[in-house]
Amino acid sequence: MTSVSPSPPASRSGSMCSDFSSSLQTEKLAHIMGLNSDDEVLGRITKQLGRSRKIACLTGAGISCNAGIPDFRSSDGLYNLVKKDSSQYWSIKSGREMFDISLFRDDFKISIFAKFMERLYSNVQLAKPTKTHKFIAHLKDRNKLLRCYTQNIDGLEENIGLVMSNRKLPLSSFSSHWRNLDVVQLHGDLNSLSCTKCFQTFSWNRYWSRCLRRGELPLCPHCEALINQRMNEGKRTLGSNVGVLRPNIVLYGENHPSCEMITQGLNLDIIKGNPDLLIIMGTSLKVDGVKQLVKKLSKRIHDRGGLIILVNKTPIGDSSWHGIIDYQIHSDCDNWVTFLESEIPDFFKTQDQINKLRQLKREASDLRRMMKAQKDSISTPPTTPLRTALHSDNDVLNVKITSLNKIKRKILSPENSSEEDEEENTNMKKRAKIRSTFDDKTSLIDPADQMN
Ligand SMILES: [Zn+2]
Repeated sequence: MTSVSPSPPASRSGSMCSDFSSSLQTEKLAHIMGLNSDDEVLGRITKQLGRSRKIACLTGAGISCNAGIPDFRSSDGLYNLVKKDSSQYWSIKSGREMFDISLFRDDFKISIFAKFMERLYSNVQLAKPTKTHKFIAHLKDRNKLLRCYTQNIDGLEENIGLVMSNRKLPLSSFSSHWRNLDVVQLHGDLNSLSCTKCFQTFSWNRYWSRCLRRGELPLCPHCEALINQRMNEGKRTLGSNVGVLRPNIVLYGENHPSCEMITQGLNLDIIKGNPDLLIIMGTSLKVDGVKQLVKKLSKRIHDRGGLIILVNKTPIGDSSWHGIIDYQIHSDCDNWVTFLESEIPDFFKTQDQINKLRQLKREASDLRRMMKAQKDSISTPPTTPLRTALHSDNDVLNVKITSLNKIKRKILSPENSSEEDEEENTNMKKRAKIRSTFDDKTSLIDPADQMN
């Protein structure tokens, strides 16, 4: 449960962050084994995360495993599942073959692919977002999420209100549309079907689910309608084929239909997004396109003095990641989020809670100013003593401050004792001191005293 000390960073230009964060960058990928509160380096990384302003995320199958969705490469992952399922009929070298575009040349492979995808889709419908998905949604709530790039096709992020890239963006005012996206699905979306010919996309329905479960890919209604129209118009239909519907995911060997959009958007994020942290979660980074994405983001973030961290149970090959990823935290992603919650509780306050606290602070500050103004006004004793009236005003102010403090205590949960609490305690002491001075001064002008 110890971490490897980070190697000093290579000299990097254009650092915009503090020396504190720069000193955490490493020349060689450093490993943090487990989640230990006493681990000094882990503690510094956690604090750095808490201070980050714009965070880019990259996620893989590891973040959905706790939702019951299998990953691809592990022993009980998708590749092995599909291999096991089809082995009684036919031998395939690896499960990956079933996710390669060449499968469409073989009816038997199509049948296995269709059945398998329907089963996966049904599983996803029952799955609930994990703690890590909620952490990403929280980053958005705090306005700290630049973008989440995901290799996952399950779309669980949509269940917690994140905006997905499953629709084509208009080319006009691209950047404003891109900015509204939270999650970019690098490998497509299992929750829709697309035509192999016209590329129209459709939502699943019960009829199509049954087709896939039987091992058949349904005919595309859009292509069918076009051909019917041509026939009705007396035009030739020779050579006009009807496409079939398949899950709208990207297979090996085929181009992503939104490749151009993703490249354009990534460049925007790199140039204008000002990311200062990249968190890679639940992936071993085996796919070439994803490796390139990490390298591009890493360069920009390192130049700005930020960090690249990977949270994953499985180790990745170190040598190719030196100077690109600073740390691998060897942990389950949900456990890591739980660790963060205990280490930096303030980070997990909602934006609404933070806004309310700010409002209360402003009101308390206004009240303090009013009290100070009243105190100053009685520094010079008035010709007619007004002790009763002054005490009455003072009491109103004190009641207001007490009620503000009560509201504040409700917002701050007991375990979240924080800098805000400490500051409030100091302020309360100051107010008590002001009140005591106030009382001393008013007692100086007590009519009874004057009579004596
Ligand atoms: Zn079609």
